[in-house]
Amino acid sequence: MSKTYRVYVPVKEGENRYYKKVRDKGLEGACIGEIRPVQSIKSFFFPARTKVSEYFSEKTSDKKSRPVAIMGAKACDLASLKVMDYVYMQDSFKDPFYVARRQEGLIISSDCTSFGETCFCVSLGLLPYPTEDFDINLSEVGSGYVVEIGSDKGQKLIKDYSKLFQSADLYIDKKEAARKKLKLELEAHVKAKAIPSKELIQELFKKKFDSDLWEETAKTCVECGACNVICPACHCFVLKDQKVGEGFERLRMWDSCLLMSFSRVAGGANPRKLLASRLRNRFDKKFNFFPDVIGKFGCTGCGRCTEACAGKIDIREVLSKLS
Ligand code: SF4
Ligand code: SF4
Repeated sequence: MSKTYRVYVPVKEGENRYYKKVRDKGLEGACIGEIRPVQSIKSFFFPARTKVSEYFSEKTSDKKSRPVAIMGAKACDLASLKVMDYVYMQDSFKDPFYVARRQEGLIISSDCTSFGETCFCVSLGLLPYPTEDFDINLSEVGSGYVVEIGSDKGQKLIKDYSKLFQSADLYIDKKEAARKKLKLELEAHVKAKAIPSKELIQELFKKKFDSDLWEETAKTCVECGACNVICPACHCFVLKDQKVGEGFERLRMWDSCLLMSFSRVAGGANPRKLLASRLRNRFDKKFNFFPDVIGKFGCTGCGRCTEACAGKIDIREVLSKLS
C-alpha cells in the first residue's frame, strides 16, 4: 500500500496516540483501536500551512506527492469531514487543494474500543464507531478485525489483497456486542456531565446569547488558539504573502477565531474586540450556524479542545450551563 499512498497510522506513546508515517520497516506501537489520536485527520486534507500561489500565478511548483492513506480514523473525525467538505467542497466555492486531497486520499477507519475522559460524541448524536464516510472500516474482534467496505476505492483495495481476508460471518455478533457495550459505557460516562439533549442545544444557545455565560467563561481564556487548531472541524485560515528570492509566495495558514487579530478589518476596526464575544462566536458557529446550514453541529464531541485548553475551559461544562 505504501507504494501508492503515504500511509499514516496512530502510534501509542505514553497515554496518547499520534499519527506517524509508515516507513519501509513498518511501525512499532501501531494502535488501530482505542480512541482518537491527539491530532485530528484535518491536517491531512487541510494542512496547517499550504502554498497556494507563487510569483503571480495560481500554479505552484509544489512537488506532487503520493496521496495519503489514513488508518485508524475514528467516527468523530469522520463526522468532522461533513463540516470541512461543506466549507471547502461546496459547488460554487471549491478549494482545489482540499478537493484533490479528499478525492485522492484513502480512509481506513476503525471502531473505538475505549473512550477518553473528555469524549462526548454520543451527547451530540454520534456513535463511537464509523457508519459512513470511510473507504474501509476495521472493527477489532479478538486478535483480528471485521472489515466493512464503504466505497469503490475500498472495494478495490480488498480485491487487490483478497488473500489477506476470510469470511467474517462468525464474528459479526461479537462486533455488534462490542459496539453496543462501548456505546452504553460512554452514555453512562457523559450522563454525569449534564449536557443538554442534542435537540435542545441550538435553542438553548440562542436563549443564552446575551447572558453573562460568555464573559464568565472567557475569564480564564489566554487566547492561545489551541482549541481551534486542535479541533477537527475548525477550518478558518489567513493568507500571508512572503518574499522568496526575487518573487513571493502566498501561504494559507490556520487561523484562530479566539485571537484579537482574527476579526480586525482594514482601518483597525474590530467588530469582536471583546474576548467574550469571540468565545461566544466559536460556540455560535458550532452549535447555531452549522445546524442551520448543514443540519449538523460543527463539533463532534472529540474532547480535544478540553484537553488542550490552557484556561481549563471544558466544552461540556459550557454546554451544561446553557440550560
Ligand atoms: S469543539 Fe472541541 S470537542 Fe468539538 S470537535 Fe472541536 S475539539 Fe472536538
Ligand atoms: S484553548 Fe482555551 S485558552 Fe486557548 S484560546 Fe481556546 S479557550 Fe482560550
